[in-house]
Formats: sequence, structure tokens, C-alpha cells
Amino acid sequence: MFSKRWCDGKSFKQLLDFSANLPGLVSKFSVDLKRFNPAKVPAEFCSLRYMPSTDDMAKVHHQLGVKPDHYLWVNFKNYYSVHRNDLPMLWQIVDTVSKLRELQGMNGWLRNMGNEHDAKFATHWRSQMLKFTLDSAFIRFGQKVQVTEFFKLRDGTWLNDGNLEFILHFFRQEYKGHVHGPHLFIPLFVMNNWIRLVGNPDLESYTINWNWGIDIDLREYKKAYTIVHMGDHWGAIAIDFENRTIAFGDSMYRPAPPVAITAVTRWIRERLGHQEAQHYSLVRLAAKRPKDGASCGVIAALAIENDIHTCPPECSCSESANKAWEKVHSKSPNELRVRYLSLLSGLSEVC
Ligand SMILES: [Zn+2]
Repeated sequence: MFSKRWCDGKSFKQLLDFSANLPGLVSKFSVDLKRFNPAKVPAEFCSLRYMPSTDDMAKVHHQLGVKPDHYLWVNFKNYYSVHRNDLPMLWQIVDTVSKLRELQGMNGWLRNMGNEHDAKFATHWRSQMLKFTLDSAFIRFGQKVQVTEFFKLRDGTWLNDGNLEFILHFFRQEYKGHVHGPHLFIPLFVMNNWIRLVGNPDLESYTINWNWGIDIDLREYKKAYTIVHMGDHWGAIAIDFENRTIAFGDSMYRPAPPVAITAVTRWIRERLGHQEAQHYSLVRLAAKRPKDGASCGVIAALAIENDIHTCPPECSCSESANKAWEKVHSKSPNELRVRYLSLLSGLSEVC
């Protein structure tokens, strides 16, 4: 059980019914995997519960030298130190169990949201989700997104690079024709590579260099947006080509990360010339400050959207449009997660 083959074709409903019996990720035994020899798996190494009867698990039994009716699970003391190829079968199981835990979390979150806010949408998403399998994917704007990627949107969870890259991709489509635009969205991986290039001239030949967007005429754009990774935190950057500012904002009101600002300034210099780049100044990008620490990614995305929706002087936007955005902007981090879940999955529209 928990092997790839075991999961194939099983709906989330079936998996959830089963996962009430999900084993813990830590057993009472402790084995240092740094000294682990895959050829000699000590019996106490694994304490997997619910042993399967599939061929795959027979292999595990053989590997572990235990009887098939043993309840066993694995204690991964040095989880990250073991190469996946050493234990392909066990890694499959770890992957599955981790995903099932995320599924449980997602299911619980949607159920709670269904009881409290955005009831209709959360209930709808949950009812659809229960029909999916671990292999289910959405095709959105020409990109394939695994349904499990959306699990990161649940409360208390940090958005990962993939989530935020997809949010930027979504903004690129959603705000293409926005009245305050046109806006450029710099992919997260490009920003990451610029940060890597700063102070490392040896990397200049790197595929993603300062030439990114060379085919784009920046003077045709009003602003450029991107998201910046700050170790354990996410921030947002807005470059205003008209007012010549680089704005940084985040949920914890941290100072702008110097390396990211240097990277962006360097790119402007490469693209618009030294003279032009000199006039850019650093300003603050407005961002909400939520009570929870896990929503920095959600808030970074919202800060970008909020900046897009903020009217420049003498704008002709209607009051109702501004009020509609204000309503979205005032949502709690949890409600914003539901909103992004809706917008990114395209499963249903909520505002
Ligand atoms: Zn406006």
C-alpha cells in the first residue's frame, strides 16, 4: 500500500477513506540513514503499518526481511541525506504518504471554509476534488498543473516557487488588457537567476542573464512586477518605468533585500542604459500585514494585484470598480487563499 501502483486510479475520496489509518511519519525506532546501507536494511529500520499485498510491497518485505503481516513504518532520521535511487520503493511510499497528509489537510481546510466563509465555493471545490486522483491535473493558460500543487494554498502552508510562478503566469493572462497597464511580469525563475548572477561574474554565460526580455521594448510597459524569495519569506517588487521607482513590499515589513534590488537595477541598466538607471529610487510597495506567518506568499501576490488596481492620478476608473477591488483586498488571508484557489484552478469564479 501507498505505492504508486496502489494509488493509481484511486479517487481522493477513496484515499481519504483509507487515510484515517495513515501511519505516522516517525516510528519509535531511530536509524541514522547516513550510515545506512541499502543492501542491508535492518528490520527495525522500517515500521510500516498496513502492509500491502501488491508485488511492489512484496519487494519491500523481501528487502526488509519481515513477514507480510507485520505492521511497519519508517523512521526517517536523515530524510534528505538518502539518495532516492537507493530506495525507490520506499521513496514512493514516502511521497504518497506525504501527499495523503496534504490531502487530509486540504480536505479539512475546505470543509472548515465551507462551514465558515465562502461556503458555496469551498464546498464545490471539495466535492470536485474528491473525484480527482493523485495524477489529476488542470490545464490552465497552456500550462499543466497537478491538482496536488493546489494543496499548498490551504491555510497554514507556505506557497512554493511553483505556486508563485503560476500566480505570476496567471497575472500575465488576467491583467493583459488592464486599463492601468500594460504590465510586464518577470518570471520567478528569472528573478532567482538574476539574484544568483549578482556578484558572480563567472556566471555571466548563464542561460538566464541580463538579456532576459531583450525582445521586449520596456518603454511600451508602464510597470514590471515580480516576486522575490528571501530565504524563509516572500516579497513583491514593482518597477515603475514612468515614475522611475523600484518598490518593494512584504507582509513582515522587512527592509528590501539589497541583492534583489541590485539585480533589478542591474537589469534596468542593461536594458535602458546607465544614464536612465541612475534616476531610479527605492520606495515602499503597500502590503498587508496578516497575523499568521505562513501567508507571506499570498500577501506578496496580493500586493502586486493591489498595485495594479491602484489608480494613477486622474484615472477614469469607475468608483464601483475601485470598490469591488477594495472588497477583495479586505479579505482575510484564508479567504484570499480560497480566492486564489478559484482563480488559479479555474474551477469556479468567486470574487
Ligand atoms: Zn484606474
